[in-house]
Amino acid sequence: MRQTKIVATISDLRCEKDFIQSLFDAGMNVARINTAHITTESCKVMVNNIRSVSKRIAILIDTKGPEIRTCATQNELNVNEGDTVSFSCSPIENDANNICVNYADFITDLHVGDKILIDDGDIEFTVQQKEKEYLSCRVENSGIVKKKKSINVPGVETHLPSLSKRDKEFIDFAIQHDLDFIAHSFVRNKEDIHEVQKILDKQKSKIKIIAKIENLEGVENIDEILEHAYGIMVARGDLGIELPEERIPTIQRNLVRKAILTRKPVIIATQMLHTMIEHPRPTRAEVSDVASAIYMRTDAIMLSGETAYGKYPVEAIKVMNNIACEVEPDRDKRYDVILPPTKNEIPAYLAQSTIRAAKEMKPKAIVTATTTGKTARYLAAFRSNFPVYAKCHSKRVVRELALSFGIHPTYLSMKKNKMRIQKAAFEELLNDDVIHLNDLVIYVGGRFGEDCGASFMEISTADKLFIKPTDKS
Ligand code: PGA
Ligand code: MN
Repeated sequence: MRQTKIVATISDLRCEKDFIQSLFDAGMNVARINTAHITTESCKVMVNNIRSVSKRIAILIDTKGPEIRTCATQNELNVNEGDTVSFSCSPIENDANNICVNYADFITDLHVGDKILIDDGDIEFTVQQKEKEYLSCRVENSGIVKKKKSINVPGVETHLPSLSKRDKEFIDFAIQHDLDFIAHSFVRNKEDIHEVQKILDKQKSKIKIIAKIENLEGVENIDEILEHAYGIMVARGDLGIELPEERIPTIQRNLVRKAILTRKPVIIATQMLHTMIEHPRPTRAEVSDVASAIYMRTDAIMLSGETAYGKYPVEAIKVMNNIACEVEPDRDKRYDVILPPTKNEIPAYLAQSTIRAAKEMKPKAIVTATTTGKTARYLAAFRSNFPVYAKCHSKRVVRELALSFGIHPTYLSMKKNKMRIQKAAFEELLNDDVIHLNDLVIYVGGRFGEDCGASFMEISTADKLFIKPTDKS
């Protein structure tokens, strides 16, 4: 029973049902749709195909967020180290050495000495002079500047709107199709999250927001971001361009630790098995990278190009799965578990007590019934080695928990089972052979209804929890 969840990116190049089925069979828990290069029509096909494979797969869709790109009209431009080129916000006539960008305040926001990086950091420039209409820059390494390529300006506070028109279209799409997560790119602060949340609230959508942490501002404002987002993604691709790459390992550790302490799901993303885009085997360094993410007790690890367009997508998921199965049992021997504070919250206190009891009593399973998923996420935050079976009263919550550490969610209808939820939960687990009558189990339950939450914990063998005294008479 793997505890670490796997997120796999799917593209419209390859999204047939059989292909998605093979990813699911290999261990994919969450399917990620990157909206960078697709239309909402092809997105719909992907969503339908994912859903036809399994109702348990959560769907996560990206926004592109506040990003700068070279203009669509930019002609290919060969630049050589030491050359001087200009950057402007609208094309400059008769200037063959001009690079046009799609952001109107580019000249205002940048200053002499700032770095400009194009195409995932492949070509670097330094601002040498600032004019009214353009920036004069030195080329630091040779390359070809193409149209619509990403531009990073490390450390520069831009004033781009949080959401583009396209992002809004995809958020509307996500709401209409009841997707599970929106991963918002380049989140800088709580306001960036509110921009998305406002749209969701207006349409009474339950979609959860994952904040992609991919620049300095996001790293610096992580506390307020964690307070307002459902979860975070350590988006190492852009993070490694926006900040010196040697800072990534410590930032990653810190973000995972803070997410666990605030009981929010965290995904570690990008280049985890990058070599497998072209090759059947990962590098040993990549294997170690995945393992160290698992040692850190991240909720989830993510694949991007490896599954979206790589040559060995299914193998990449299998590699992640195998590493997790090897590393997870070793974890407790070496690393202390972080204990999130309970902050006077009843479900948090119950989760803490449950895990404490589990360590001493060593139950076969922890079982909970959950309406909002909160109790299950709180149990996950303690990162214990005991499997948590969450009986969810909504199918959406089953999918949401596909992202949470060590949780095995299934649907259990509240309507059909009314006041006998606990009995029904055990009936299913016994029928599925997950537990047996004489197994020791801890059950965390509560009163029913949206805001009631968990209110009690019971420790007993399954037969006693299953057959309550009232049933005997
Ligand atoms: P992206 O985000 O793949 O959408 O750029 C992830 C990252 O930057 O790591
Ligand atoms: Mn990114």
